[in-house]
Amino acid sequence: MKVTEHLAAAKDTLFSIEVLPPQKGKTIDDLLRVIEPLMEFKPPFIDVTYHREEIIYKKRSDGLIEEVSLRKRPGTVGICAAIRGRFNVDTVPHLVCGGFSPEETEDALLTLHYLGINNVLLLQGDSDPTKKPNDNKREHRFASHLVEQVALMNKGRFLHEETENELKTNFCIGVAGYPEKHFEAPNLNSDLKWLKQKVDKGAEYIVTQMFFNNSKYFEFVEKCKQAGINVPIIPGIKPLASRTQLNNLPKIFHIDIPDGLVSEVEKCSDDKAVKRVGIEWAIAQSKELKKAGVPCLHYYTMSRSEATIEIAKAVF
Ligand SMILES: Cc1cc2nc3c(=O)[nH]c(=O)nc-3n(C[C@H](O)[C@H](O)[C@H](O)COP(=O)(O)OP(=O)(O)OC[C@H]3O[C@@H](n4cnc5c(N)ncnc54)[C@H](O)[C@@H]3O)c2cc1C
Repeated sequence: MKVTEHLAAAKDTLFSIEVLPPQKGKTIDDLLRVIEPLMEFKPPFIDVTYHREEIIYKKRSDGLIEEVSLRKRPGTVGICAAIRGRFNVDTVPHLVCGGFSPEETEDALLTLHYLGINNVLLLQGDSDPTKKPNDNKREHRFASHLVEQVALMNKGRFLHEETENELKTNFCIGVAGYPEKHFEAPNLNSDLKWLKQKVDKGAEYIVTQMFFNNSKYFEFVEKCKQAGINVPIIPGIKPLASRTQLNNLPKIFHIDIPDGLVSEVEKCSDDKAVKRVGIEWAIAQSKELKKAGVPCLHYYTMSRSEATIEIAKAVF
């Protein structure tokens, strides 16, 4: 089923999770073990992130340095199929612009279609810190370009073809939204303008970046409505897990941590205590969001289940 069909059929707030593909060289077993106990809370869909390749420099036996393009967490499409096969749950592969030509994206979408996976979350993708200015591989620049491509495939229109094909894909398209604005956007209004463009081009729902202050989400939803964005907006929740995240999360994700949470963490003597605080905070956030009638609570598990299990037990 499509994510939007799950949302439409739901009588109450749904529970869903995001997981990461294992690092190359690790088996899928640990990931399946993470998901297994979370199935008790009946997620109708599970998101699997996509990770672009990175450039690494390797010393060859002749002493010269070789540039190698390496994907550290490959396998998103296969993992989606494996999770679905194992748990009989819908999966949502993330697809990114960075590192893929539109033709490669088309092939990946066809593979998903043949596998019967008809949900995708379309993203620009994290930037590659190693990318060089002369790296001129053709790729989509913004998520809206990916949305456009998938929406056309849903009408049977493939790249470099003028006519409609017999094969029409049937993807439900999700995109990302940022209650505290995307870090590159000059301001929230500008970010909302481009978010609306993604919706106008075919996105059917939005999943938000993590936030720790629910009022940011509520204000965002209100501003989206004012901007004419009327698709479901699924809040993304991440429980704080260590003291270092107080500084790392704002640095990486460009979000604020509210005073109340900072002062609770500062009272903690170790990370075990911080985890407890993070779980309690996420439970309080989730309960308030659920009471407000959000369509689904989407948890960023970072491929660990303990905290999400505790939160789900308290909330669902
Ligand atoms: C729910 C969620 C899941 C994610 N999953 C992944 C993942 O699996 N893999 C991964 O690598 N990253 C992932 N990310 C991170 C994401 O790729 C980054 O945040 C990225 O920097 C932005 O992606 P986007 O799709 O929101 O970008 P876009 O919607 O393309 O927007 C990027 C920026 O460009 C601006 N913009 C958009 N269109 C235009 C335009 N036409 N002209 C000018 N400016 C424009 C926007 O305002 C914004 O500032 C995820 C993020 C979220 C919130």
